[in-house]
Amino acid sequence: MTYSLAHALRLQSDPPVSRLERLMLLEMLLGKPREYLLAHDDEPLSEQQFERYTRFLGLRSQGHPMAYLVGKREFFRLSFTVNQEVLIPRPETEWLVHAAIRLLPRHGAAIDLGTGSGAIAIALAHHRPDARLMACDINPKALALASRNAQHLLGSGQQIRFQRSDWWESIPLESLALVLSNPPYLSMDDPHLKLGDLRFEPRLALSDEGNGLGAMQIIIEGFVKRAAMGLIEDPGLLLIEHGYQQAEAIRALGERQGLYHVYSASDLAGHPRVCCLAMRAPKPEVLDQLKDACLTWSSGTA
Ligand code: GLN
Repeated sequence: MTYSLAHALRLQSDPPVSRLERLMLLEMLLGKPREYLLAHDDEPLSEQQFERYTRFLGLRSQGHPMAYLVGKREFFRLSFTVNQEVLIPRPETEWLVHAAIRLLPRHGAAIDLGTGSGAIAIALAHHRPDARLMACDINPKALALASRNAQHLLGSGQQIRFQRSDWWESIPLESLALVLSNPPYLSMDDPHLKLGDLRFEPRLALSDEGNGLGAMQIIIEGFVKRAAMGLIEDPGLLLIEHGYQQAEAIRALGERQGLYHVYSASDLAGHPRVCCLAMRAPKPEVLDQLKDACLTWSSGTA
């Protein structure tokens, strides 16, 4: 028995999978663009292709994230390879990159703590080839994926230094102008962990297995310690993405360590999403750059 593409596209599942997602699965499995698949929908699938397709359709029907099934997700207009070792990059994280592109001085140094797929560091490197970038993760498999993404997405001119590290632990004592992070910020009993894509993403990337502020605290303390060693140079900002109800808590954590709250950026749903902290009050142009990042981000331009 042979099945055509048209048949495969019509194949139902329970719970249902949208036609667009069925098309995306076929694109990935057959290595052909959707325009081709739609124009040649009378072509037969081999038995093996059909069997793989029904397996993937079943996985999607059970809730497996599309990004893991097709093995990629777009972030900042770049196509990142992703797998179950890393968090699926989210659009709300793009603001952090917009801000970093504007704030980093020429040839300035920045670090992405907990880089996962490499999304933040690589998108920044793509727009700022002059930047000196480090990216770390505790999971060596995530780091391997991030460095593969960097090889594919960046020219040979830009090199990000990938370092295995538990937050600051193994980071060389070098000057940094910007510290960026989208750390695991869900509390261990956050109900979102049982919903949608999050059920399939690595716990390590989602939750600190505490009240959700554990990683934030370590990152803030490390930032303050490095600043005391003279290792944080202008504009000397820490940009952390956080949960939609954590803005006040992060600000308080920072202020307790003597940091200055510079800015809170909201996501497109209007929730405060990124906290910007510094050792001292910023120059007015820093605030202008942050506001400009918000404008370009919400208007969808890079
Ligand atoms: N920095 C990566 C991202 O924003 C990974 C974040 C994480 O795993 N918490 O996608």
